[in-house]
Amino acid sequence: MNIVSRYFRAGMTRRIRKRVLPNLGRILTGWQIRRCRCCERITLFLTFGTDEETRICLRCTANLRYELQAEYLRENFNPESLDILEMDPNSCLRRFLSRGRTYIRSYFRPGHKPGTVREEDGSVMEDITRLTLPDASLDIIVSSDVLEHVPDVAAAFRETFRVLRPGGTHVFTVPYEARTVRRAMIENNGIMHIETPEYHSDPLDPRGILAFWHFGPDLDVHFGHSGLGFALVKGPEGKRRSVVWAARKPI
Ligand SMILES: [Zn+2]
Repeated sequence: MNIVSRYFRAGMTRRIRKRVLPNLGRILTGWQIRRCRCCERITLFLTFGTDEETRICLRCTANLRYELQAEYLRENFNPESLDILEMDPNSCLRRFLSRGRTYIRSYFRPGHKPGTVREEDGSVMEDITRLTLPDASLDIIVSSDVLEHVPDVAAAFRETFRVLRPGGTHVFTVPYEARTVRRAMIENNGIMHIETPEYHSDPLDPRGILAFWHFGPDLDVHFGHSGLGFALVKGPEGKRRSVVWAARKPI
């Protein structure tokens, strides 16, 4: 055995001892075999944490909030006749949403020019507060745990109102809190914290991503002036009280 493989084997043993063994009970007891409400197949759900946020379908990677969102979309929309924007290039909802008449998937990176098409997967860089899409050009916008991280969320709702057709809907998930509160804001190009900083896990950043907002059942009171009508359409469900919101542009 050479020095490199010995090193990796030692690392692997250490990782198993430190991370897997202490959590083995939870990983095993959290397993579920059931029909996934997103991909609609019988599947194994694996748990990697303490709540349903980290319990995922082995086939499509959906967790509870994605399952709720998939269920709402399937129950209420026939994608074939709709123009759709999904603000996530890799979500488990793509299998359903990509059946749309048109389907745009977008990604977000600060510093990238809005409208840039990424070569690796064809997704488009979009900033939800200044979309590059024309007025009244979409029937559905889908975002999943995005809006709580947008400092100027009023601008995001103004933009979604602008690009939706009358009768169009922005279907979104955000963590469900007791009330709507701004937790942080951007001032003089820096972050000003109003509440204790709260970070959510982010696949792109090991430090996590800051929550600028909490959203509660009073969402309509705070952002109804955008012209959108907000309705809680799924949940709360599970330990984390997962919900789905539909923000609809009136006909
Ligand atoms: Zn699934």
